[in-house]
Amino acid sequence: MRVCRFNANRLGVVKGDTVVDVTDVIEGKLGAHWPFPAGDAFFARFDELLPQLAAAVPGGQVLPLSEVKLLSPVANPGKIVAAPVNYRKHLDEVLTDGNLHHGIKVLSIQEVGLFLKAPSSLIGVSEPVRVTWPERRTDHEIELVVVIGKPGRNITAANAMQHVAGFTMGLDMTVRGPEERSYRKSIDTYTVLGPWLVTPDEIADPNALDFDLRVNGEMRQKANTCDLIFNVQELIEYASKAYTLHPGDVIMTGTPEGVAPVQAGDEIVATMDCIGEIKVQVA
Ligand code: MN
Repeated sequence: MRVCRFNANRLGVVKGDTVVDVTDVIEGKLGAHWPFPAGDAFFARFDELLPQLAAAVPGGQVLPLSEVKLLSPVANPGKIVAAPVNYRKHLDEVLTDGNLHHGIKVLSIQEVGLFLKAPSSLIGVSEPVRVTWPERRTDHEIELVVVIGKPGRNITAANAMQHVAGFTMGLDMTVRGPEERSYRKSIDTYTVLGPWLVTPDEIADPNALDFDLRVNGEMRQKANTCDLIFNVQELIEYASKAYTLHPGDVIMTGTPEGVAPVQAGDEIVATMDCIGEIKVQVA
């Protein structure tokens, strides 16, 4: 059978040089909103919802943070955009360490562009990262993460902050090896976001945040986002030259030097100015 979609989301079966409209078969069976609009429905309405959230706080049920399971602050990102080698010292360590470059020519972010991680790899901080191929090296990469609110394409750096819903922290977990980044960085549980989203009014300058990452108490990564090669605004400009950015799209800004392996049983603790702390188990 040759199945097609046509015109205003009609469903068809192609017969020779005709198309038979069979939309009735799915009418009312796929939910009222199929096909879903691009982007995350919550962030598509984030601006209008924010004052309502603030107004709902005084009457809301109060739970201890320690007793809830924190999910990814973005439920359904259309895409997870990520920056490779966006800190100079990380570029230097990749250039000099065969375990990181695997004999593949290392290019600057200006040359190599950005990459995408599969949304199916996404978890919140209360769920463990599951080392899936224990015979391979899985590394931690701590990153500042931008969540898009207002959609746009060809956004200029000067206007970029108008498109930001907020910031969070991310772990871009990575199997080292020669495969495409989109393969070895998109394994289930290899994208961790959290603990929550912080709105831009609480972050004076996203390009001046101290952050660090420890494994089992040992400091592995420690840097400041002032060392980003493409800063937050420039990354939004760079990404939106290629992709329309939709509400809820995520941009992982890249990791600094100090990437190193983790294994089952490890505990990753990372902190970032203005955002907080995450504690993630490795299983
Ligand atoms: Mn990364």
